[in-house]
Amino acid sequence: MHRTHTCGELRLDNAGQEVTLSGWVQRIRDKGGLIWIDLRDRYGITQLLIEEGRTNDDVVKASRGLGREFVIKVKGNVIERSSKNPNIPTGEIEIDLSSIEILNSSKTPPFTLEDNTDGGDELRMKYRYLDLRRQPLRRNLELRNRLSIETRKYLDNEKFFEIETPYLIKSTPEGARDFVVPSRMNEGQFYALPQSPQTFKQLLMVAGYDRYYQLVKCFRDEDLRADRQPEFTQIDCEMAFVEQDDILNTFEGLVRYLFKTVKNIDIPKLPIMEYADAMKYYGSDKPDIRFGMKFVELNDVAQNKGFAIFDSAELVVGINAEGCANYSRKQLDKLTDFVRKPQIGAKGMVYVKYLSDEQSANDDGSFKSSVDKFYSQEDLKTWAEKFDSKPGDLMLILSGDKNTVRKQLNELRLEMGNQLDLRKTDVFAPLWVVDFPLLEWDEDTKRFHAMHHPFTSPKADDINLLDEKPAEVRANAYDLVINGVEIGGGSIRIHDRDLQKLMFKHLGFTDEEAQEQFGFLMNAFEYGAPPHGGIALGFDRLVALFGGSDSIRDYIAFPKNNSGRDVMIDSPSEISDAQLDELMLNIKK
Ligand code: ASP
Repeated sequence: MHRTHTCGELRLDNAGQEVTLSGWVQRIRDKGGLIWIDLRDRYGITQLLIEEGRTNDDVVKASRGLGREFVIKVKGNVIERSSKNPNIPTGEIEIDLSSIEILNSSKTPPFTLEDNTDGGDELRMKYRYLDLRRQPLRRNLELRNRLSIETRKYLDNEKFFEIETPYLIKSTPEGARDFVVPSRMNEGQFYALPQSPQTFKQLLMVAGYDRYYQLVKCFRDEDLRADRQPEFTQIDCEMAFVEQDDILNTFEGLVRYLFKTVKNIDIPKLPIMEYADAMKYYGSDKPDIRFGMKFVELNDVAQNKGFAIFDSAELVVGINAEGCANYSRKQLDKLTDFVRKPQIGAKGMVYVKYLSDEQSANDDGSFKSSVDKFYSQEDLKTWAEKFDSKPGDLMLILSGDKNTVRKQLNELRLEMGNQLDLRKTDVFAPLWVVDFPLLEWDEDTKRFHAMHHPFTSPKADDINLLDEKPAEVRANAYDLVINGVEIGGGSIRIHDRDLQKLMFKHLGFTDEEAQEQFGFLMNAFEYGAPPHGGIALGFDRLVALFGGSDSIRDYIAFPKNNSGRDVMIDSPSEISDAQLDELMLNIKK
C-alpha cells in the first residue's frame, strides 16, 4: 500500500495513528540532530520529523540521502507539533518517522518549485510538468476543474445536451485563419480544424436537439497575446425556439450561478448596454464598468472660441477624474506622453483642474487649465457642469475624428482607472452589450465583413437598410463583457434560406461560392429549420478572470508560447520525408 492518507489530510484528531504517506520532497531542514522534511502531493504538505538518536538509524541514514523532488513513501506516527504552523491545514501535526522508502530519485529541478519561483517563462514552459507541481498552478487548474463541473451542472439542469462535434471539418469563416490538416486519402485536399462548431450546432438545432452545449477546443491561427492561444476552449451553446432575451436570461443565469457557487459572490441582474452607447460613453465595445468616468462630449461648449484644434475636430470629448486636481506638472506630462504613445496616437491632451477651495485661495479663479488662453473661467465652468465635476477634480479632454478619439479616450480612461485603483481584480462587473452592427467595413479587402459571423440575423427593422446603408444595419448579436474583457458572444441566427443567401450576397459571395462553402447549411434550412440562436463563452478567459488574472496561459495545463510553440514537446516540428510523400506534400522532390 502506497498511502493511508494524502499529504493534505491529517489533523490533530489523527494524533496517535500510524500512517503511510507518499509524495515529493519539497524541502529538507537539517538542524543538527533534528531533521524536518516537507512532503508534498496535490492535496497539501505534511511535515515529517526525524530525530537523531531517537529515530531508527536506517531512517536517519536514508533521510540524509534525499534531495528535493525525490518521491518517497514513509511510515510513522501522527504527533502534535510543538511549534504549530497556522498557515497550512496540517500545521498542527507532524509525522514521527519509522521508515523511509525511496520510490524514485530526482535531479535537482532547474528552478525552485515554491509559490514564488525563480524560473523564467521559457524555462518553466520547457519543464511545464515541474511548474505544474507548484501550488499556484495547481490551484488554477483546480479552479478550472470546478468551473467546468459547475458549468455542466447548470446546463444539464437547464436540459442542455452535451454533444461532440468533429475536429476535422471544412473551414467556417469566423474571421480568423484556419489551421489545416492534409488528407492522406484525398490527395491535394485538406480538412480545417474548427474555429468554432458554429455550423454544426446550428445543424443540431435543425435536427431537433433543442438545447446543445459543449466544452470544446477551438483553433484559430492568429497572432498571439496574453489572452489568446492558438487552441482554446469555449463553452459553446445553441438553443432552438428562442429570442434574444431567452439567451441572455439563460446565460446570465449561468454567470450568476458560477459566481455564487464558485466564489460565493451575488451578482445583481446584468445591465444591458447598446453597442452605440458603449462606444459613445466608453469608447469600447467591452466597457469596464467597475468604475464610472463616462465620456462627456463638449462640442457645444468647447468649439468656436478660437481654439483651432478643438474647432477643427469632429468630436471633443473627455472624462472627469475625481480628486485629481492635485496632479503635478510631472504627472500631467506623463499622461500626455501616455496618450501620445504610437499605440494610442493622440496628438495631445487638454486638462482642466477644478481647484479645491484651499488650492484656489492663492489663484485667480477656480479653474486652471492648459487652454487658459482660449477659455474664460466662465467657459470652463460650463464644462465642469457637463462633467458634473466638483472642486478637487481633474478633467481630461481629447479631440479628433470621432472613432479615433473615442478609442484614445478609452485607453486614457482605463489608465486613470488603474492609477486610481478602480480596477480591483476581486470586484466583478458583468454586462451585456447588444445591437452590434451587422457588418463591418474592412479597409484591406475594401468590402464589408460580418462583424460576428455570416449566420447572424439582422434586426428585422433594419433589413430594408441592407442595400442603401449597410453600415447602419444592426444585428441580433450580443456580447457578455466582464471587467472590460469580452467573455463571450453570440447571436440569433438566420434560419431562412433566402435571407441567408441574401446575406452571403452582401458579404461578396457569388451564388456558386456560397453554395460551394455553405450549401450544406442552406440545404438544411429547406428541411424545417427552427428559429434558433446561441452563444459561446471563452472558457480560458472566464477561468483566468475568476482567478483574478488576465493571463490565460496560467490556467491551461499545457499552453503554447507567444510564437505558438510548445517548447516542452518542441512543436511544431518538421515531419519526415516518408510522411510528406504519403501526404503528397513533398515539394522538395
Ligand atoms: N461561434 C461564435 C464564436 O465562436 C459564437 C456564437 O455565435 O455562438 O464566437
